[in-house]
Amino acid sequence: MRIVVTGGAGFLGSHLCDALVQRGDAVVCVDDLSTGNLDNIAGLLGNRRFRFVEADVSAGLEVHGRADAVAHLASPASPPDYLRRPLETLAVGSRGTENALRLAERTGARFVLASTSEVYGDPIDHPQRESYWGNVNPVGPRSVYDEAKRYAEAVTMAYRRHHGVDTGIFRIFNTYGPRMRPEDGRVVSSFIAQALNGQPLTIYGDGTQTRSFCYVDDLVRGIVSMIDSTEAGPINIGNPEERTVTELAELVLAITGSSSAPEYHPLPVDDPTRRKPDITLAVGRLGWCPEVATEEGLRRTVEFFRSRPQDTRAAAAALLGGQLDGEPVTAGRAVPGDVAV
Ligand code: UDP
Repeated sequence: MRIVVTGGAGFLGSHLCDALVQRGDAVVCVDDLSTGNLDNIAGLLGNRRFRFVEADVSAGLEVHGRADAVAHLASPASPPDYLRRPLETLAVGSRGTENALRLAERTGARFVLASTSEVYGDPIDHPQRESYWGNVNPVGPRSVYDEAKRYAEAVTMAYRRHHGVDTGIFRIFNTYGPRMRPEDGRVVSSFIAQALNGQPLTIYGDGTQTRSFCYVDDLVRGIVSMIDSTEAGPINIGNPEERTVTELAELVLAITGSSSAPEYHPLPVDDPTRRKPDITLAVGRLGWCPEVATEEGLRRTVEFFRSRPQDTRAAAAALLGGQLDGEPVTAGRAVPGDVAV
């Protein structure tokens, strides 16, 4: 197949490009490198089945020649990233998705959308099933991401219903692994960078909030199954092994052998209190389920971070005291003008 991957130089996108090229597909990777990185695709750049196009999908998406599938992953995805780029996040979820859908319509390709567990907001139903409509604050700081992805789902369904495009929506739950940027502000990357450098582990809130962490290789297998299927979705793809943030901190300390202490910071506004996917649909429709246990996945991720001591040290320093680029990581904290709903 010839597959267009938007956001293909990002953390998840680059692993997806690797998997597709490895199985014999030709890949056109489109990325504006705003949160992606050429290092992520360095191993693919010389491959004749791989092409990289530096472009912002929100501005337009022109790919010459045939396309059998379009996988639309382009978007800032870590909370500090999307809080720093609110308008770009809304643009890529809306105009970017429309451009990717139009490309699929023109070429007759299957279109798959990388959506997110954030469409469930701070969920009242637990675990989250695809039939749950969610509990999203439409005017809170996270809405730039949550509503962009909800719109992306809606426009995808409209192209399916009214333009006959073969579409599939999958909802990604927290994913981690090699190639995460140590400074991206997510909990796994932050804790590992901090633990390896003897810095305090920044716990937001009291650490009782939960997430369910999926190792990147498992996630990518799920995306590939979605590309190969004719399922419309939405289908959750994530690991249902649920942990509190405190438990994650303890696990990272045990794996790294670090004696870093926890350091408590305010909980960002609208930070979901719990999150766990119900993956019955993924198991039944795609024959997919995660295989890598959290301990094992974390061990592999720690190895990756250890192999880049300079980046990891710089990130730990930048994350110190919950600060990134001089701005609080908790940029979503209520400020005058924010509407607390
Ligand atoms: N978190 C934390 N310390 C950090 C970064 C994040 O305690 O240094 C918390 C965050 O408040 C959230 C959870 O960890 O409850 C997961 O955050 P992340 O940014 O990784 O992803 P999210 O699931 O919020 O999109």
